Amino acid sequence: MSEDHQKLKLEVAMAVRMLENIGLLDMNGHVSCRIPGTDQFLINSRKASRASVKVSDIVLCDMNGNLLEGDSEPPSEYHIHTEIYKRRGDVQCVIHNHPHYQTVLGIADIEMKPVFGIGSFVANVPVYEKSSLVNTAEMGAELAEILGGGTTIQLRHHGTVLVADSVKAAFAKSVFIEENAKKQYDAMLLRTDIRVLEGENLVRTRDTAWQPSIVQKVWTYHEEKAVKEGALVGLVD
Ligand SMILES: [Zn+2]
Repeated sequence: MSEDHQKLKLEVAMAVRMLENIGLLDMNGHVSCRIPGTDQFLINSRKASRASVKVSDIVLCDMNGNLLEGDSEPPSEYHIHTEIYKRRGDVQCVIHNHPHYQTVLGIADIEMKPVFGIGSFVANVPVYEKSSLVNTAEMGAELAEILGGGTTIQLRHHGTVLVADSVKAAFAKSVFIEENAKKQYDAMLLRTDIRVLEGENLVRTRDTAWQPSIVQKVWTYHEEKAVKEGALVGLVD
């Protein structure tokens, strides 16, 4: 493995720990990252605890889920990742998690709407209606087709899949799509007929929210927070 691959493994492991630390990953989520320019990807192993995952728990697989490097198999839902990577050359990172507010809105059949500045990239989130594990290539393909060129897809009664062009961007978007869902949920407790971002205001808000510097700022903030809380201890073995 080159130094670059090690760096990517570290990023994936950090993303898993940091998402777990803020309640956005439970014992079963996964973060993957394509090795740029190849049909191989890194992903946290099926068995490694999301709370204590180490760099050595990040395994390398091919697009059929075959283990190329590492001593543990990938999660059974690796098909989500492979089928998206096969169809989307622009995607470098895929996150699958079970975030509370997004999932609750899905259960209530309430469409996610842009309601909060930095979370306002939320738009027409499609829904995958099969709620079981996505543990076959057929289901992964079905899900990837419904996602199309989008950023995120809701898995009804299950969770969310989100894609981005880097691990850090996917991490930041995972944080703010859940923040957006939480604000929508809370606002709807006050009244169901809420005001959503729209028109020119939405366009301007969206356009200014996602500068590259924001992504790094979000990552650094959560890294520092995780360090303070002891959530990154033992990351590198
Ligand atoms: Zn799942």
